[in-house]
Formats: sequence, C-alpha cells, structure tokens
Amino acid sequence: MRLILGIVLNLCLLLTFQAEAQKTAARIIPTPTKVEYHNGSFNLNDLGKIIIDEQHKELDDLRGLIQQELNVQTKGKASISLKIDSDIKNDGAYQLAIGKSKILISAANSKGVFYGIQSLLQLADQSVDNSIECQQVQDQPGFKWRGLHIDVARTYYPEAQIKKILRMMAYYKLNTLHWHLTDDQAWRIEIKKYPKLAEVGSYGGPYSVIGGKWLDKGNGQGHGMFYKHKHIKRIIAYAKKYHIEVVPEIDMPAHAGAFLAAFPELLCTSKDTLPNPHKGLFGLDYNWRNKEGLKQYQWDAHREVCIGKEATFKVLTDVFDEVMELFPSKYIHIGGDEAYKHGWEKCAHCQQRMKDEGLVDVKKLQSYFVKRLEKHIISKGRKMIGWNEIMQGGINASTTVMFWNGHKHDKEIIESALKNGNNMIMTPINNVYFDTTYERRSEKDVYQYQPLEFVPEKYEDKIMGIQACVWGEYGRLDSSGQVRYDAMENFERMMFPRLLSLAELAWHKHKIVKDEVFYKHIENHVKVLKEKKNISIGEVKMVPWW
Ligand SMILES: [Zn+2]
Repeated sequence: MRLILGIVLNLCLLLTFQAEAQKTAARIIPTPTKVEYHNGSFNLNDLGKIIIDEQHKELDDLRGLIQQELNVQTKGKASISLKIDSDIKNDGAYQLAIGKSKILISAANSKGVFYGIQSLLQLADQSVDNSIECQQVQDQPGFKWRGLHIDVARTYYPEAQIKKILRMMAYYKLNTLHWHLTDDQAWRIEIKKYPKLAEVGSYGGPYSVIGGKWLDKGNGQGHGMFYKHKHIKRIIAYAKKYHIEVVPEIDMPAHAGAFLAAFPELLCTSKDTLPNPHKGLFGLDYNWRNKEGLKQYQWDAHREVCIGKEATFKVLTDVFDEVMELFPSKYIHIGGDEAYKHGWEKCAHCQQRMKDEGLVDVKKLQSYFVKRLEKHIISKGRKMIGWNEIMQGGINASTTVMFWNGHKHDKEIIESALKNGNNMIMTPINNVYFDTTYERRSEKDVYQYQPLEFVPEKYEDKIMGIQACVWGEYGRLDSSGQVRYDAMENFERMMFPRLLSLAELAWHKHKIVKDEVFYKHIENHVKVLKEKKNISIGEVKMVPWW
C-alpha cells in the first residue's frame, strides 16, 4: 500500500512538474530584472477591455497597439490597464502584473508602458493555449543605447522593410537605429540644396556592391535608389511610435566615394579620377579579378574629401544642416573611419592647410576636420559620434566614440578614449558584427560578449551601450557569389537569432541568465519568429569577408 501510495504521489509530482514546465516555457527576452510566478493564468480569450488613465492621453496609442496585436472581445470580462505611476523612477522601467482576470502595466512614462506591453505580447505569442501564466514582473533597462546599425549604402531597403526592422527592434526593446546612409557605393539621402548628391551618388557605378563581389544593374540592391525627405520623415515618425531614435550617419572624410562622384572638384587632385556614375567610380578596372578568379572591387576606393579646400566645409556644413533639420536625434554620426590619408600627403591644398593651422601630420589634419565639424554640430544643439579612428590626432572630450576595432589594441583604444573623457558605444567587430556566417559567429558566441571587459569600474558610466552592426556588402549573395536571397530575407537571417543575445546583453550590462538556460529561451523565440512574425531564420549563405 505504501508502495502504491508512493507511486501515486510520485506520479502526481511528475504531472505537476510537467504542467509547470509547460506553463513556464514562455519567457521574455530580454529577461526581466525580476519575475515572480503565481498560481493560475490569464485567458486571452476573455479579454474585453483596455483601460487607460484618462489623464494621460499619450497612452491612447498604446491602447490601439494592444487592440491591434491581441484579440479583444466586446463581451470579454477580463481587462488590461495601462497606468503612469510616479513611484516608478527609472526611464523605461515598468511593472507588469498578470492576474487571473486583470493585467496591470505601470511605468513612469509611456516608454515604460510600451516596454511592458512588448513583454506581454511576447508571452502571448509564446502561449500554446491562449493563456498566460500569472506573474509579477519588475523590469528596467541597463544600457541607455541599445542599437542596431543598418547599411543601406550597400544594400538598399525600401521604407516598408525598414519599418519591419523597427518593429522587430522594439519587440526586443532596442531603442536606437543607426542608419548608415552614405558610403563609397551609394549616397542614399536626398539633399535638397544639392540634388546631384542623390541623383549621381545613388549610382555607385554599374555595380553597386563591393567588399569582394558586386551585382549587376537592376538587381534590386538599390541601384539609383535613395530616400526622399518624405520617406525619411515617415520612417522617423514610425520609429518614434516604437520608442526608437533614428541616428543618421553621413560617413566623412573617407568612405566618400559616392559623394565625390557628385562633387569631383572636392577630391584632393582631380586628374587621377574619372567620376562618371555610368562608367563606375574613379574609372576602376571592373574586370580585375581576385586570386579566386572572382570579380572584386578595389578596396582602396575609400576616397577621402580634400580637407584643404574651403569649399569642402561649405558643402558639408550645408549637408549636415539639412540632415539635422530632418533628424531630431540628439546624436549625429559623422563616420570618421578608415581614412587612408595618402591623398592628403600629396595634395597642395591639404599641405597648405596643415601649414596655416600648424598641423604636424595628416592625423592632425583629420583631427582638424573632425573638430571643425563637431563645432558646427554642437552649435546646433546636437552631439557628434564617430567610429574610433576619429581619435587619431586627438579629439574633444565631448565626442562620443563608437568602438569597433577587433585587434590586439582594443584595450588601449578603449582606455585611451575613457581617459580622454569620451563616452563610448561598443560595437566590436569580433562580437557584434552580424554580417558573417553562423559558423563564424553564432548567437551563443554573441552571448559570450562582455561589453565592460576592458572598462575600469570608475568609467562604467561612460559606456552608453552596445549595438549590432549589419553591413550590406553581401545583401543577397550566397557562398558562391550568386544572387540567391531576397535582400530582406538575407538581412533577417543575419539578424536572427543573434539579435536576441545582443538585446539581452544591452538590457542588463552583465549576464543574469546562465548560458544553457538562455539558449533554451532563444529556441522558444525562434519558433515564434518563424511562425508568427514572418521572419526568415537559418544559415546565412555568404562569403565571410573578414
Ligand atoms: Zn587635399
């Protein structure tokens, strides 16, 4: 008898355990700071009312968002309440209380309420029987900058696709879209004062993709495509609804090939160039082949603008003024990476500038350019960001450094920026660049990244956050260099599931979930992304370029 009772008891325990395991399968990413589970569940089929605090009309849009995402029945008796609560202090923090018939989301502001809703939607999306386990969630973000970078210069994404990217960012509580709008291959932003910039610069020659391969005209990569003011305004407004700030990057003084195709007179010397948009930038030999016999653009096409000519500053000041009028973001990114500087060594204009300003070398000349541009950006009430090469020759403490280098000097670069007083955003190539294969970098590898690894404790507040970068050289190529994927499909494959690891690290600064447990959560989310969010997931077929 005892034995039978024991077996029955064990069986009950097992069943309870299985039920629990099933119920607790739904998990929020990024993992909330604190979760307590309670008995019972909320049945989404009973949802009838979304109640907002009428004093806070800003919550009205959020009520609409829930109605759009969840099935709200007019006769349902259960409710969701959205509330502004001044006792919750941190920006973006929220509480989510899920009872059997009531859900309450409260936060200091509508951003926090929005994040609480995203957590709720994730639980609903993972539910197998339309019920959500009762629980009390308290949550707040760690890093202020939780970013994603997209490179539309190499691969153009139309407005609708950028909106999809924004929705997916918001689902994982990312808050900054770094929009790389210009490069050697294309200039993608309309500048009304200089229409030729987009008209000429959006054609990066007959082939619009580099980095090892290129594609022919008419391939959908965006040959001749650019964003007009109306597109940009709509995208910024859409991002705002999803609590995402859009930060534009106009890459200068190098990676300026498309700019220089429109303004060849702003090259150091013009006789070595052939900037004809229909024959290819700078007359490069498009039949040149690399050692594998594949066509390859020449990387030394990273062309710099002339810093000696005063006209360079006139045009760029006008361009940045128009960019700042369009983009309300606190930060403006000027690029600043990979200037080879050889042209400046040989240019009479640049040499004269160095003499006049007492600049001892071309690094100091770059520093002069960066500081002059920053002065203008600050005069408009904004702050400037640049990739870490802007430190060459010295920068002001007011500049924000975006760290990407992945070499043995990482620690020195980081410490040097912090000692100089600069804020930093971490985007290291070896950890959070997603334009490579999963063999080379899996979501598990991304989760091993420690953003504060080389950061002395006293400087931790200087680290604004982290960001994934998705460069566009291989927008839709497979490993043999053939056009295979739709660009958006390939982009999604590059992002997911790696972006989930990034979102987790960005929300917490330090890991709070053990590796194996977090990987299980990723599996659940991958299922939802495929089945309910129309996201392409799978191996990225591309030539790893680094
Ligand atoms: Zn020059």
